[in-house]
Amino acid sequence: MVTAPPLTETTSAQERLDLPIARAVPEVTRGAATLRKLDVYTPRQALFYLPFRYDDFSDLRPLGDLVADEKQSARARVTDVKVEPGFGRRPQRVIAQLADETGSAEAIWFGRRFVERRLKAGDELVVSGKVVMRGWRPQFVSPDFSPAGAASIHTGRIVPVYPLVGGLTQRRVRELLARVLGRTLRAVQDPLHEDEREGLPGLAAALKAAHFPDDPGEVRPALDRLAHDELLALQLVLAQARAARAGQRAPRIPVAVDEAATLESALPFTLTGDQHRAITEVLDDLGAELPMRRLLQGDVGSGKTAVAAVAMAAVCRAGWQAVLMAPTEILARQHHLGLAPLLEALGVRAEFLSGSLSPARKRAIHAAIESGEIEVAIGTHAVISRGVVFRRLGLAVVDEQHRFGVSQRAALQAKGQTLEPHLLALTATPIPRTLALTVYGDLSISTIEQMPPGRQPVRTEIRDRAALPRIQEFIAAEAAAGRQSFVVVPLVVESEAMAAASAEAEASRLSAELPQLRIGVVHGQQKSELRDATMARFAAAELDVLVATTVVEVGIDVPNASVMLIEDAERFGLAQLHQLRGRVGRGPHRSFCILLSDADDPVARRRLEVVKGSTDGFAIAEEDLKLRGAGNLLGTRQSGLPPLRVASLFDPRHLKLAERARELAQRLVAADPGLAARPELIRLRDDFAPRDEEGDAA
Ligand code: ADP
Ligand code: MG
Repeated sequence: MVTAPPLTETTSAQERLDLPIARAVPEVTRGAATLRKLDVYTPRQALFYLPFRYDDFSDLRPLGDLVADEKQSARARVTDVKVEPGFGRRPQRVIAQLADETGSAEAIWFGRRFVERRLKAGDELVVSGKVVMRGWRPQFVSPDFSPAGAASIHTGRIVPVYPLVGGLTQRRVRELLARVLGRTLRAVQDPLHEDEREGLPGLAAALKAAHFPDDPGEVRPALDRLAHDELLALQLVLAQARAARAGQRAPRIPVAVDEAATLESALPFTLTGDQHRAITEVLDDLGAELPMRRLLQGDVGSGKTAVAAVAMAAVCRAGWQAVLMAPTEILARQHHLGLAPLLEALGVRAEFLSGSLSPARKRAIHAAIESGEIEVAIGTHAVISRGVVFRRLGLAVVDEQHRFGVSQRAALQAKGQTLEPHLLALTATPIPRTLALTVYGDLSISTIEQMPPGRQPVRTEIRDRAALPRIQEFIAAEAAAGRQSFVVVPLVVESEAMAAASAEAEASRLSAELPQLRIGVVHGQQKSELRDATMARFAAAELDVLVATTVVEVGIDVPNASVMLIEDAERFGLAQLHQLRGRVGRGPHRSFCILLSDADDPVARRRLEVVKGSTDGFAIAEEDLKLRGAGNLLGTRQSGLPPLRVASLFDPRHLKLAERARELAQRLVAADPGLAARPELIRLRDDFAPRDEEGDAA
C-alpha cells in the first residue's frame, strides 16, 4: 500500500480540493464512504454535487396557518412524545404533539430512526416537512427538525434537495456536503478574471449559493454562473479544436461546373433548388485545401442523400475514395441499395460493409478498400473498425450524425492518410439555428428547407384513447387497400426493457383484435438481426403493421406506409414526433399521422397542436423551445446535443450565456492556444466538458 505523504503547510489549499475527502476534511472520515456512493471522491466533486431542487422552509408559519399537501415550516413547542412499538409488519412510530399560540399539530416518524432520543416535551423546535391533514389537525410526515434558535441546514431556511442513491438520506448528504463546503470553499479560486465574468457571481459565492442560498433570489445567478462555466468548457474544447485544425490540410478536389452538371443529371430526379445550393456549397468546400466540416440539415425526406451522392461521386471520379457511415444496419443497407446503382452509372464502385458480414467477406472488402478498387464504402460503424484502411480517403459522410459520438466521428476522419478527409454530416434533427451555431460553431451549415415535389402532405390528427377502436378499423382498412401502418408505443425513458415490454404487449393486443393483419414488432431489446429482419419484412410489404419503440425514428424509407400512430404522444419531444411523422407520406398515397393522447394539461395539448399545425421541422423545434423552457434533459438527449449538467440549451437565457461563452473562449484561445498560462481554465475545461457518450456496440 502506498502511504500518502502527511498533509503539510505546503499542501496548498488548492491542492486539497483534489485530495480524497477523508484526507482533505478529516472530520468526514466515515462520511467519505457515503459520498463515494454518489461518485464524490474529492472536495471539488462535492462542491459540484448540486441539488436538483430546493425546499423553501424559510417562511415559519403559525401552526394555525398550515395547509394540506404542501411542504412547510413551523416553530413550535413539543408537548408530548410517544413511541409506538412496531408490531408484525407495522414499523415503530414516533409521534410528537406540537403547539404554539395559534393551534396544535402532530409530527410522525416511521421506523426505528431514534428520533425520540432527540426530542422531549418542552423543547422549542423548528419543524420542516410535508404536511397532511388528519381530520382537522395538521400532521408533519417524517419532518426534519432542529432546536429553535440554533442555525440549521435542514429547517427554517431554503433547503437543498440532492439526487440520492438507495440507502442515503437527504439529511446525511446535506450535512456532509455542508461540512465539506465549510472547510474547502475558501480554497476555491475563480478561473475567470472579474472582467471575464461580467456581472456573474464569483465561483465560490456561486457554489455557496447553489448549495445553501440565504435568499431565493441568489439561486438563479449562482446556477447561471455554473452553467456559464460548463458552456465555457464546451466552447474551449471547440475553440481549441478549431485552432488545431487550422494547420490541417485536406486533398484539394476542384470540381468543374460541367462535371457537377453531369453528376446532377445522373440522378433519377430533378434536384430542388435547395439541394442544388447545398451541392454547390459542398463542392466549393471540396476545392479548398482546408478540410470541409459541413453539417447538412434538412427535414426528413428532404433529399439529403442525393447531396451526399453527388459529393461522393465527384470525389471518386477525381481519384479519391469516399465513405458513408450510418447508425443502423438497415439504414446502411438502404443507402447501399439506393446509391450503388447511381454511383455505378457514374463509373464508381460502392460496397456495403457491416459487422454482420462473414469474416471472409469482410476481409475481401477490406482488401479491396485498401487497394482502392472499392471507391465508396457504405456501412455501419464497421467502417471505422481497425481493419479498414483506405488508400486515398477524400470524403467522409456521416448520416444521422447526432446518433454518433464525437469520438466516432473523429475515428472516421482519422481514416485519412496524411491528408484529412473532408467531412459532410447529415442530420434531420431540426436544431434551431441559433443553437446549432452555438453548439456546432465550428461546422459550416447547409440547409434544405424545400421538399421534393409531389410529396403528399401528411394529415395530422390528435385523438384520445377512446378513439382507438375506430383507429384500428382504419388501420385494417388501409391494410386491405394494400397500405401499411406504423404503431409507435409510448416513450419510456426509464428503461429500454420497459419500452420493449410495452411494444410486445401492444403487438399481441393488436394481433388479437386484428387477426387478419400481419403484425411485426421491433424494439431495442431484440438482437439486431431479428430487428433488421423484421424491418426488412415491413419494407418488403410482408407485414401490414409494424409496432415499434422509437427505433423506427431513424431514416427507414417505406413509401408504401400511410399511417403513423403514436401512442401517448405527449411524452415525445416535438422534434421527435415530427421525425416519426416523416416516416409516412413518402410515397404517392395519402397519409396520416395520429397523435394519441389523453393528456389534458394545456401545455401538452398546445405542443401537440404545434405538430398538427406545422410541417416545418425548424419552426416546430423553435416552438418546442419556447413552450418547454428550461431544464429539459430529455430534449437535449433526443436532439443529440452534448449532455450538459447545469446548462440547458433549451433555456433561451442559457443560450445567451452560450454565445457569450463562445466569444470568451475564442478570445482566450486566440491569446494563448494551449491555455498554458491559465491552468485553471484547463482544469475547468477537463472537469466540465461533456464526455463522449458510448456509441452502439458493433
Ligand atoms: P432524407 O433527407 O430524409 O435522408 P432522402 O435522401 O432519403 O431523404 O430522400 C427521400 C426520398 O426522396 C428518396 O426516396 C429520394 O429518392 C427522394 N428524392 C430526393 N430528392 C428528390 C427530388 N429532388 N425529387 C424527387 N424525389 C427526390
Ligand atoms: Mg436520410
